[in-house]
Parts: sequence; C-alpha cells; structure tokens
Amino acid sequence: MQKNIIIIGAGVAGVNAATKLVDNQFDGKITIIDMGKNPYERKYSEVMEGFLGAGGWSDGKLTYHTSIGGQLAKYCGEEKAMELMDQVIENFKRFHPKPEAVQCSNPIEEPNFIKPYFGLRLFPVWHVGTDYLHEIGKNWYNFLIENGVEFLWETKVEDIDFNTNTLRAKMLDGGEETIMLYDELIFGVGKSGIDFGKQLAEKYKLPTEPKSVQIGVRFEAPQEHFQKLIDVSYDFKLYRKFEDKGVSLRSFCTNNNAAYVAVEETYGDHSYNGHAKKDEAYRNNMTNFGILMEINGIDKPFDWSRNIVQSINKEGTGLYYSPTRKPSTTSEGVDVSAIQINEDELKQVREEFSGYFKYIDDFIEDMKKIFPTLKDDWGIYIPEVKYLSPEPLVNYNNLSLTKYEQVHFVGDALSARGITVSGAQGIYVAEELIS
Ligand SMILES: Cc1cc2nc3c(=O)[nH]c(=O)nc-3n(C[C@H](O)[C@H](O)[C@H](O)COP(=O)(O)OP(=O)(O)OC[C@H]3O[C@@H](n4cnc5c(N)ncnc54)[C@H](O)[C@@H]3O)c2cc1C
Repeated sequence: MQKNIIIIGAGVAGVNAATKLVDNQFDGKITIIDMGKNPYERKYSEVMEGFLGAGGWSDGKLTYHTSIGGQLAKYCGEEKAMELMDQVIENFKRFHPKPEAVQCSNPIEEPNFIKPYFGLRLFPVWHVGTDYLHEIGKNWYNFLIENGVEFLWETKVEDIDFNTNTLRAKMLDGGEETIMLYDELIFGVGKSGIDFGKQLAEKYKLPTEPKSVQIGVRFEAPQEHFQKLIDVSYDFKLYRKFEDKGVSLRSFCTNNNAAYVAVEETYGDHSYNGHAKKDEAYRNNMTNFGILMEINGIDKPFDWSRNIVQSINKEGTGLYYSPTRKPSTTSEGVDVSAIQINEDELKQVREEFSGYFKYIDDFIEDMKKIFPTLKDDWGIYIPEVKYLSPEPLVNYNNLSLTKYEQVHFVGDALSARGITVSGAQGIYVAEELIS
C-alpha cells in the first residue's frame, strides 16, 4: 500500500525532507501544508511564513558545525550529522541560479587582537544572501511540483489527533475546514508554530527535555569598525571566554555589507534579527549581530523570556538605544520599527532583565577595547530572543515522538536553531522513512 506522508510547514526542514523523498523515488503521496504563500506570491513583509519558511527570507548563512544551530549530533552522531549538513548545503547550491556565487568563509585561527577579551568560534559558513534565496525558492518549488509533491498554501493546521492519525486544517481566507488522514506526519512548523507545538505537548502530556534562556539585543554599527575581524571571518561568532554563574555570551548571526535589521513578530510582540543582501545595490556598509546570553537554571525559561519581551515592548514594538545614532531603515527604505529610548529609559530595561543586562553592557564595553574606532558609534535593538520551544522527547533514530511513532518533529519545532541543522533533521527523518 502506498504511504501518505503529510508535512506541516514548507520551511527549511519540511522542504528538505520532501526533496530527499523525491530524490529516492518515494512512491507514496507527499502533501505539504503551509499557512504562508508559495515563493512567487510571498511578500517581503512575510518574514516567517511561506516556502522555505523563516529560512526563505533569512540571511542564508549555512553554518557547518555540529555545535552551531541546535541539536543534531546528539541524535545521529558527529559523522552522520556532517554528512546530513552537506546534503542541505548541496540542495541550496543545486537550486541556486548562480551556485558559484555562494561564498564560503572558513577562519582557521583566532586573531590575536581579540584574545584578551573574546574567543572566536572557528567553523565554515556558506553565505547565500537573501535575494538569491528568493530565486532558489522558486526553482526548488518548481522541482517539487514537477515531481508530484502537493502543496496546500495559506492553510493552517489547527489540531492534530495523534490517536487517529488525523489533522484538521483550515484555509485562512475563511474557507472550509478539512480533516486529513496521514500514515506519517512530519511536524516542521518552525518558530512561527511554536505555540502550536507547545499546545500539542500540553494536550498529549509529551515528555520534554530541559532548556536554557537565550535572550539579548541586536547590535548595529558601521562596518568599518569591524572590518579587521570580518576579513578573518564573515559571520564572526565572538564569545566571552569566562562563564559566570550559568551565563554565557556570544555574538550571533553577523550580517555585513548590505546588512539590515529585521523585526520578528512572535506572540504579537516584536523582537529583532538581521539579514544581509548580496546585491551591491543594497550596500549600506553596516554590520549587525545579536549579542545573546544563554542563561541556565531559570525555572520555566520559556515563560521567563516571554515576560521580558512583553514588558519591554512599547506601543506595539521593540526599543532602540544608542548614545549617538538613530535606528536604520529596512532594505525597502522603511524605518525599522522601534521606539528610541534614552539613558534613563535604558535603566528601566536593565531592571526588566533582572540584573542580567550587565553582561551585555560588559560585552559592548569590551568590544570598544578591541575595536578602538567604535567608541559611541553603535546602537542596540531590544530585545533579540530565541524562544527554545519545549523540546519533546523523540526516538533518536527517526525523531518520532516516543509516545506516537508516526509523528516526527523536525527543525526549530524540535531542537534546531538554524537552516543547516533544520534541513538536516528533515533529511534524517526522510531517510528513515524510505528505509
Ligand atoms: C530574519 C531571519 C534571519 C535568519 N537568518 C538565518 C541565517 O542566516 N542562518 C541560519 O542558519 N538561520 C537563520 N535564521 C533561522 C532559520 O531561518 C530557521 O532556523 C529555519 O528556517 C528553521 O527551519 P524550520 O523548517 O524548522 O522552520 P521555518 O523555516 O520557520 O518554517 C516553518 C513553516 O511552518 C509554517 N507553519 C507554522 N505553523 C503552521 C501551521 N499551524 N499550519 C501550517 N503551516 C504552519 C510556517 O508558515 C513556515 O513556513 C533566520 C531567521 C530569521 C527570522
């Protein structure tokens, strides 16, 4: 009998899973349901939803190390993890209109000038760029359609019955509800579906693994101040060498050349991220990156981070602080949504962070020491947050729920935090389904 596989989420994980099935002549039915739009109709403002999900409008930095981008090696071991990530990178090149334009940055040594204050994570990164991702999305989508994959766009899955292997989906323009039956379900809803995952975890009392808090700010400054380090590593990841009371700090997702700050909307609140364009027409000679704290030992880390984000949002958006600068514009020339605050108002923010903001202050002070021209020529968008969804316990061989073996969690909905690892988890599940 032919198997009926339903994938919820046409994000990086779901699309890579479907591609692996197609490449291996899977002879069952593959349906992908997504609440966003196909790559031809998706708008710039739709950052998190649609073909390739958050990855489709991201900066397209494909990191290549098992300690970056969430959990992968814990399920399948180091060697297999690297092989799966290779497959993801190959997929992005395969549908790229100009694969030779994908650049790889591969720093091999920490530069001496950062050493007194920071360490630098050394690993290769392939940089695709947001504008090429749109073209990749279209080519990739055409390939899947031509190979029989069915897509239901602007359709939201509202409930899943793990006991009867059915799900309830609804067209977002007020259309009818559909009940669909699956043999295997791949749950790849990403960050935009984090609430849905949480709701299912509570409804089915799914056992979960403990998580840390990941919160901070998006830092932005003219690129010239950082050029010395960018020449060594495009997506530099600085980290504080000494951990303090369960808190570690790192820079996260660096964007250069044509670098823009992006607003992320989760649970109706604003937080920040960044992306970079490849096209020279967008060059603004800015650099932005997250300064993220990983805080361990917080009771209910998810609720704790969410409370901070809620209490910081003002007039429906996040905050911007700078000793000298104004917020930037987006690549479409619109002001990045943020309320500018002064030094006194920043003190209130420090209080909302329950004392943890001092680690971010220290990080910035130390950057001023190793990048001497930086001085007060910088700004921060507050907050940047990585909501780590409660990670359900899965069988490590196929990422299926320990209680419901037909349901496979993948990508940011499980334990990933980036494109390569999300895609790799999708492929891992697909390989297991084929075998
Ligand atoms: C601005 C920005 C820049 C980023 N830059 C990078 C980067 O350079 N490098 C990197 O590695 N990572 C980056 N990331 C993170 C990366 O995009 C994600 O980690 C990755 O896309 C996760 O893949 P996923 O398949 O798990 O989820 P996603 O790619 O987010 O896809 C989830 C899909 O599920 C759909 N969905 C959700 N709920 C439902 C539902 N109930 N019913 C139907 N459909 C649903 C959504 O519409 C979405 O299309 C960035 C993220 C953002 C927002």
